[in-house]
Amino acid sequence: MAATAAAPRKGRPKAVINPDSCTGCEVCVAICPVDCIDKTPGPEYRTLNPTCVIDQPRCIGCFLCEKICPWDAITMVPPQEAPAMPTPVTTA
Ligand code: SF4
Ligand code: SF4
Repeated sequence: MAATAAAPRKGRPKAVINPDSCTGCEVCVAICPVDCIDKTPGPEYRTLNPTCVIDQPRCIGCFLCEKICPWDAITMVPPQEAPAMPTPVTTA
């Protein structure tokens, strides 16, 4: 009997932060079990509105940040739809 090709693995979803909704409250930073969320631009740029960004390759898709974000700024997306790099901060 011929072997059946295995279906491709879909992988875990990835969390994506909408910078327009994120207030930089850091609730998600505190709860992430793999510590893959960071605040940007950081304390050295106090005149810019801070947001948080996710290091996508390290996200394990646990949904904790998406559930706890008080501003509904986090969306879980299929891994192929996640940005390769954290969303850059715009200063316009
Ligand atoms: S919990 Fe939500 S609003 Fe707070 S920093 Fe994270 S993404 Fe932004
Ligand atoms: S889904 Fe889980 S691993 Fe991914 S950024 Fe959110 S808390 Fe961290």
